[in-house]
Amino acid sequence: MKSQTKAVVIGGGIAGCSALYHLTQEGWTDVVLVERDELTSGTTWHSAAQVTNFGMNQTMVGLKTHSINLYKELAEDPDYLITYHHADGGIRLANTEAQMEAYRHFVSMARGMDVHFEVIDAEECARRHPLISTDNLLGGLWDPLDGDIDPAQLCQALARRARKAGAEVYRNTPVTGLTQHKDDTWTVHTPKGDIDCEVVINAGGYRVNEVAEMMGVHHPVASMEHQYFVTEPIQGIVDAGHRMPLLRCPISDYYCRQERDGLLVGFYEQDCKTWGMDGIDPNFTNALCPDDLDRVTDVLEGAFARMPALMETGIHTIVNGPITYTIDGAPLVGPVPGKRNAFCIIGLRAGLGEGGGHGWLLAQQVVHGEACYDTWCLDPRRFTGHGNVELTALKAIEDYQNEFRFHFPQEHRPVGRPIKTTPLTPVLAAEGAEFTVVNGWERVDYIKPDPDFHPSLTFRFDEAFDVIAAEIANVAGNVGLTEVNGFNRFEISGTDARSFLDRMFCGRVTDKPGRVGLGYLLNHHGMIKSEATVANLPDGRIWYGSAAGAEGHDMDWLSQHVGAEEDVHIRSLTNEHTILVLAGPNSRDVLSKASRGDWSAGAFPWLSVRHAFIGIAPAVVMSVSFSGELAYEIHVPNNQLYAAYLALRAAGEEHGLQLFGARAVESMRMEKGYLHWKADLLTEFDPFETGLSRFVKMDKQEFIGKQALAARQNNGAQKKLVTLELESTDAPAHGGASVMVGGKVVGTVTSGDWGHRIGKNLAYAFIDPGLSDIGTKAEVDVLGDLVAASVITSGPYDPAYERVKG
Ligand SMILES: Cc1cc2nc3c(=O)[nH]c(=O)nc-3n(C[C@H](O)[C@H](O)[C@H](O)COP(=O)(O)OP(=O)(O)OC[C@H]3O[C@@H](n4cnc5c(N)ncnc54)[C@H](O)[C@@H]3O)c2cc1C
Repeated sequence: MKSQTKAVVIGGGIAGCSALYHLTQEGWTDVVLVERDELTSGTTWHSAAQVTNFGMNQTMVGLKTHSINLYKELAEDPDYLITYHHADGGIRLANTEAQMEAYRHFVSMARGMDVHFEVIDAEECARRHPLISTDNLLGGLWDPLDGDIDPAQLCQALARRARKAGAEVYRNTPVTGLTQHKDDTWTVHTPKGDIDCEVVINAGGYRVNEVAEMMGVHHPVASMEHQYFVTEPIQGIVDAGHRMPLLRCPISDYYCRQERDGLLVGFYEQDCKTWGMDGIDPNFTNALCPDDLDRVTDVLEGAFARMPALMETGIHTIVNGPITYTIDGAPLVGPVPGKRNAFCIIGLRAGLGEGGGHGWLLAQQVVHGEACYDTWCLDPRRFTGHGNVELTALKAIEDYQNEFRFHFPQEHRPVGRPIKTTPLTPVLAAEGAEFTVVNGWERVDYIKPDPDFHPSLTFRFDEAFDVIAAEIANVAGNVGLTEVNGFNRFEISGTDARSFLDRMFCGRVTDKPGRVGLGYLLNHHGMIKSEATVANLPDGRIWYGSAAGAEGHDMDWLSQHVGAEEDVHIRSLTNEHTILVLAGPNSRDVLSKASRGDWSAGAFPWLSVRHAFIGIAPAVVMSVSFSGELAYEIHVPNNQLYAAYLALRAAGEEHGLQLFGARAVESMRMEKGYLHWKADLLTEFDPFETGLSRFVKMDKQEFIGKQALAARQNNGAQKKLVTLELESTDAPAHGGASVMVGGKVVGTVTSGDWGHRIGKNLAYAFIDPGLSDIGTKAEVDVLGDLVAASVITSGPYDPAYERVKG
């Protein structure tokens, strides 16, 4: 066994084998995989191993496509043939129009990745799958490339190819400890000896947290028991003369695929069960949980009704095994939070289908620092401070119970809430607030007109449309107040803080005391990494503010780049402060009444920051605006937040100050041309492509990503972010929707919403640069309709910025 290597992958299921293989493909061939037992002896060996192209966003679709292409290539390798039923086709069923509409959105989104789904009606479903009845069925989503693969053969093939490229695989070699050294390298301890390496990768499956504990971390991953059975042969399948397509049913929560001449039917029962919460028997290997079909009778009935042939067929085998879930249903693939040179590929609940793609994106991150797609939806740093065992288990149960029921755009599922709150949360709830969830924080979405107001779940504009319109009208014409909690805030100090920040931002960010500036951080490839405001407090402190949710991500990025000799300290204040936003033409009057001092435009102009008291609560006030109206961000310590709130409410009384929420903000920011991190600001695009040239100073001596950006600049933009006006009034263009010209996909929508102040249906999209001129006509595929659209000037509301300056 080697005692020294570049990377050690821990675990030999699909995740580990794929990561190992892809590391060799990205150029790291001196790599090792250690497996405590035999390859695939965790979950992988008994997987139903369906391989679909269906994903919730373009990153997921893209990585699944990679899996499919790779598996096909492996299966066709004459040196090592694999059983892969490629392109049997699959149907996701629907019995409501809302589900059908969602499928139409997925067709539009996947088309941009050159993946072609089809929405079909109930009769066509039955024609393609002769065993199903059309009772209570509207139709479905057809995935032509759906199939299933032999999981053990797949892993062997990946390991075999990795070995050929130079990697080594050590079976029956449990990792018993991990030591990180001062230079951030690792020693992996096993009973057969130690291995020193630069990078470790946790691919431990349901034992993820045993491995995580060895590096002093915990991942929000929980296991659920999951069952399927395989039937005896079914005559209808033999008679059909072709393989049955796969089925996935959000109506009754089961899936089904052909297994030999019978069916394999898997269940997502409501009466579900977590597994291994209090530790896992060390001897549980190549093992199953006791079967318990009584638990699945509710969903079994639905499967029987859809496929009557099941009722006349005997059960051949039952499989019940652990399957891992995370807090939001997506895996954790990327850097381990708070650790250097440590990565994970864990929480895979559809790991056979996705594993090829996850290993690919992970290996790119390990070797190149970034993947070809923006991987934030998979990033392990996306849960900050709330990824605990209990919440993970509750969300795992909720997710399991809703396996095939996708989230609607405005849907925020109830379990595990509230988890992150401020003292204002119950106060705002009593005022009628409906909450959205941002990185675990309960944030006001809008104020309900009555307690029983529950808009329907839809991809179209919902019943809250007029409520949002009224909140915006009040902000634009008068004054509104909202709480923005969870906003990420670091205090950056030390004698080298200024030069450090100058290196981190691609533009010049103000260092004037009392001033606030916006800037962008790039990665080493010259692509957008983060967006942040820098506020130079009059007392000399520097506050770095970025998106809620960016805390772990930005902390990692900033602290990684502090030089050994530099005097720079970064302290998170995210959980200590909250922002109250006062917005609207009368906001200055309200602030002046609530706080002593001269708040006139001359004394406190746009982009200023100062200390103040709001009533009796100390605050840092910034004159910045995300709404496009005169506005103030009032940063208050949480323990005095309620006092500040009461002072503002009292001061606002004479103006009829009203509350507003995140949905109003979303609409207003689109009218202003402002961007959202990880919706519009992605690692797939550089700042020029994203329309941020004014924030880039190529004449700066140094900034991270400068060289790569210069090279990209020479090659010209691949895409350009534009604002589109859509000629429709009933639905927004959702992120991922395809922009078309002449029947060809020319771009992808990143955000869409109704602009209430200008009365336009707006969308942002990255499109071919040649089509980015103002006035260019295009179409956007919105829920299956090709909606006419044209490129308009970004930020159409108050382009002269008169209103924000007041
Ligand atoms: C019943 C069932 C049906 C499924 N059906 C599908 C499906 O149809 N399609 C699909 O895509 N997915 C499906 N899945 C999910 C899929 O099987 C899993 O997502 C996938 O197998 C997980 O692979 P993994 O490599 O992450 O974990 P595992 O396969 O569990 O591999 C982890 C490996 O790490 C090793 N290990 C752990 N600790 C150590 C240590 N300390 N040292 C060394 N090695 C260690 C383990 O021995 C194990 O081999 C199903 C799962 C179940 C249970």
